[in-house]
Amino acid sequence: MTALTRRSFLATTAAGLAATALPAFAAPTTFKHGAFEVTVVSDGHLVLPVSFLATDAPQKERDAVFKEAGLSGPQYNSPTNVTLLRRDNELILIDMGSGGRFMPTAGRLWDNLQAAGIDKSKITKVIFTHGHPDHLWGAVDEFDELQIPNATFHVAANEWNFWEGDNALRGLPPERAGFVTGARRNYAALKDRVKMMKPGDEVVPGVHVLDTPGHTQGHVSLALAGGDGLIIAGDVLTHAIVSFRYPQWRPAADHVPDQAVATRKKLLDRLATDRSRLIGFHLPYPGHGMVERKDGAYRFVSVA
Ligand SMILES: [Zn+2]
Repeated sequence: MTALTRRSFLATTAAGLAATALPAFAAPTTFKHGAFEVTVVSDGHLVLPVSFLATDAPQKERDAVFKEAGLSGPQYNSPTNVTLLRRDNELILIDMGSGGRFMPTAGRLWDNLQAAGIDKSKITKVIFTHGHPDHLWGAVDEFDELQIPNATFHVAANEWNFWEGDNALRGLPPERAGFVTGARRNYAALKDRVKMMKPGDEVVPGVHVLDTPGHTQGHVSLALAGGDGLIIAGDVLTHAIVSFRYPQWRPAADHVPDQAVATRKKLLDRLATDRSRLIGFHLPYPGHGMVERKDGAYRFVSVA
């Protein structure tokens, strides 16, 4: 695990901003999948230390793949792709972005939706992959009030219990205590409208909850019916080259690294075997693609 304090994390991030233009409006991408209309909306991007991508990788392989991926500086921009599903009368948001309190380069979801003519008050359901800031903190506004107070919020019971339980403080590096405070603040705002879910559940017809733990204790992905399937994978695969070629490497953001590695390998195998579509929250916008086997590992192939 990288020795990184919350202060240095934020300072590094702030320093990176001088060289990082704030994201402009990005028009959402929409395509059909089975009975669903799928729209990917950008929440902007995160600015992260490159060292986050592989904490324990052999130096030689790491240098080579970072060079190939254009990761030459100390930081990189990680896209944040929020998925919106439309089916009949349901408008379902998968994750809610960062909101205004995580990083100045993120939290663009609501503006981007509005600019695209999508009325957020029409969203009927929200399904969370996990409780990290870039997926959950957009639930509330600057007054800690829900952005969409009439929606129903679906949270994996294991994830809710992790953040609300004592293990959240014991089980995370102390510099991430702010993540616990933030998760609890957002969960408190939505607790009267929350429905717990568990792997195997069908939240709406054609949307199944997939057990993909490790990135966080209760991390889930969503499997959409139709064609060869479409998996909205949250943070199982966070980099378009590194996560696919070296699924065994341990990103700093994974809470339970060995479990995250096992989950990553299992999901890659499933995606390559089934030829399913994939949407990755942190893959290059819009994060939509497929997985192919290559040289004993995998590669990500974007789909326009
Ligand atoms: Zn994330």
